[in-house]
Amino acid sequence: MVLQELGGKLSAALRKLQSTTVVDEEVVKAIITEITRALLESDVNIKVVMELKKNVEAKINRSEDASGASKKRLIQQAVMEELVAMLDPKTPPYQMKKGASNVIMFVGLQGSGKTTTIAKFAHYYQRKGWRVAMVCADTFRAGAFDQLKQNATKLRVPFYGSYTEADPVRIAEEGVEQFRKDRFEVIIVDTSGRHKQEDALFEEMREIQAAVQPDNCVFVMDATQGQAVADQARAFHEAVPVGSVVITKLDGHAKGGGAMSAVAATKSPITFLGSGEHFDDLEPFVASSFVSKMLGFGDFGSLLRELQDTNDPGMDPKKMMDRMTKGQFTLRDFYQQIQGVLKLGPLNKMMGGMMPGIPDTAQQKRFLYMMDSMRDDELDGKVDIAGNEKRVTRIARGSGTRVEEVQLLLRQHKAREKVVAQMGKSGMMNAATDPAM
Ligand code: GDP
Repeated sequence: MVLQELGGKLSAALRKLQSTTVVDEEVVKAIITEITRALLESDVNIKVVMELKKNVEAKINRSEDASGASKKRLIQQAVMEELVAMLDPKTPPYQMKKGASNVIMFVGLQGSGKTTTIAKFAHYYQRKGWRVAMVCADTFRAGAFDQLKQNATKLRVPFYGSYTEADPVRIAEEGVEQFRKDRFEVIIVDTSGRHKQEDALFEEMREIQAAVQPDNCVFVMDATQGQAVADQARAFHEAVPVGSVVITKLDGHAKGGGAMSAVAATKSPITFLGSGEHFDDLEPFVASSFVSKMLGFGDFGSLLRELQDTNDPGMDPKKMMDRMTKGQFTLRDFYQQIQGVLKLGPLNKMMGGMMPGIPDTAQQKRFLYMMDSMRDDELDGKVDIAGNEKRVTRIARGSGTRVEEVQLLLRQHKAREKVVAQMGKSGMMNAATDPAM
């Protein structure tokens, strides 16, 4: 998971809240101190951290008279809301238009992960059924075209480039023109990077931008530099109209929180996070879903959006979400969730990380067989199965599985039900699923 370390520290602080009986001033102070320390260790700018602290305190103080459970909920909600606010650039990103040619120009410094991100980006849209093509307008770095060609071949994506033409503007123009004519929907243009920000880089970027008139410029930056990336983000933003930002190398990097909050502060919309060197290691970014996942609540919002994208007619995500918002999560909901996740195919792997507690594919299928052997009243949570040994045995026999496996299913369902109930009560479910946040 991205920002595992920071997430671990933040959720540990919030967990302490759950285990205390009296929520007095001292407890609140200790928790806020722990949260601010964790953020500073993740290289979040001190001003941003102080602002977050002030806002959380203000929200808590405003409802001085709240007590016990409601106070706990209030603190959790305030922390969650402020973390979301800290990571939300509050600028809508470019929206891809299906059926049209979307020309997307990628910019960034050399080594930021631009070429790798382009392959991941191509893979992401290709998997969703878009017609994707790539143009290599990086004539500065030796081997750039070969690297793009290699990735494109692996992905079976058409590509355009040249070993002999030295003018990147000409290549970009020709490639884009050809792919537009062939009605490709996502035409990705890779541009040169440099080791550092310099005039030649920005001049070339401006020329290509003027020549191909991209629908969006995606700025790729490396998270390992922490909050120092703010300057970089600003400089690129001033040179070309950056419509979205991809932050790479967030896998296991301690400074990731700093980079993400710094970019958000420049009001550049973050659209994806890179979390590894493989084509699958790209996650769409929505601040509320991200925070929910980082705090260990699972990414219900993204899962829901992915499920909606797969257009499964047997699934009514809205109804399921309505119930989940109220803290209800039946075996039937679990069934539908597993079924939806299985339908996602290769996305399934990603879901493992999004939904803690979702078992592997073989186990998921066996869970479905077991639930196929259950009665409606059991699936709808009207009667309890766990305490009914006879029913557990019948279900195991009916589905060709073992009693222990049925018990495992029931335990996993209970664990998920608990998380959902906790999120429903704290109001986090709404925050995690509201794409407008
Ligand atoms: P470019 O010069 O900006 O095109 O950068 P590359 O795409 O060639 O990437 C530079 C290095 O960073 C390569 O070794 C990539 O494998 C690596 N890289 C790119 N993205 C990620 C990421 O999200 N996580 C990790 N760990 N490595 C990455």
